[in-house]
Amino acid sequence: MHRATLAVTAGRPTPTPDAPLNVPVEFASALAAGGEIEYTRHDARNSRALESVLGALEGGEAVLFASGMAAVTAVLEVCAPDAVATPTVVYSGTAAAFTARGLRRCEQADPAADLRWIESPSNPDLQIQDIPALAALPGTVVVDNTFATPIGQRPLSLGADIVVHSVSKYLAGHSDVILGAVVCSDPALAQRFRDHRELTGAIPGPMEAWLALRGVRTLDVRLRRAESNARDLAQRLSSHPAVSQVVWPGLPSHPAHDLAVRQMDVITPIIGLVPHGGVAHADRICDAVRLWRHATSLGGVESTLERRRRHSGESEHVDPALLRLSVGIEDVEDLWADLAAALSQ
Ligand SMILES: *Cc1c(COP(=O)(O)O)cnc(C)c1O
Repeated sequence: MHRATLAVTAGRPTPTPDAPLNVPVEFASALAAGGEIEYTRHDARNSRALESVLGALEGGEAVLFASGMAAVTAVLEVCAPDAVATPTVVYSGTAAAFTARGLRRCEQADPAADLRWIESPSNPDLQIQDIPALAALPGTVVVDNTFATPIGQRPLSLGADIVVHSVSKYLAGHSDVILGAVVCSDPALAQRFRDHRELTGAIPGPMEAWLALRGVRTLDVRLRRAESNARDLAQRLSSHPAVSQVVWPGLPSHPAHDLAVRQMDVITPIIGLVPHGGVAHADRICDAVRLWRHATSLGGVESTLERRRRHSGESEHVDPALLRLSVGIEDVEDLWADLAAALSQ
């Protein structure tokens, strides 16, 4: 079945007269003895339902974690690499996790790496990496698929071994949940992640899993609507006199546009925007917007923006004036009017 259908139908219980169509939120720690779960630090029905959907969408077996960072950390601990090949810029939390473990970072195509970490598109500079080409090199290949979502691209089918997600972003989609996931096609590897989760206790709560599953049900429509808004805004921004640079993989001006179009079914609705006037102007834009919200994080139904280098942990390779725009599903004319007014201040 198509992914839009799987997003709506996977993880549902077998129909029983008068039983709910979806798994209701179940608050429980202790369960009656004699079953296969026993205790909800091991597993839980709300987690299992969401895992079924994420697994179906990515084409593998999903294991939920309490946050995206718990998922990233689980991958680094289970794979225990010596040297990790990475793009110049990855999500700042992931970069910090590499540093905290004393991992040697090397060039993306370095044959000596035993782990290849791919973030495509990358946060926040929207670089695109050639997943099949990198997956053909030796080493375990991990793709952080947070920006693309499985509607945008399916890394396991492109040769990756492991997918990680910050479910907090597009998958949950309403800026109200912190959650993460690891997905892999090897069932033995998935079991190692489950064992790791039980041991570290990084299991999500039932409310988070339930909310995120509700979000995933509408992922396809949300992502496509946000992408359409992003396309419109990226084009308009490109000819705005206050704008120095627009970075969006769906624009022909993006250095990896052809690769992005080949590799992705939907382009991420995140836009990089560098205004003329540097950091001061970028900060004024964040203060001036009314409909857009100045906030970190991304992937919600609402449009948000922030200057990433305001965080000391952000990579020095990122332009200090770069604004990361997370385009939501509002009417694009309202989004444009607010942004254009803030840019012209
Ligand atoms: C946010 C994010 C993470 C971390 O996820 P949390 O759910 O915030 O812990 C990891 N990777 C990327 C690309 C992200 O954007």
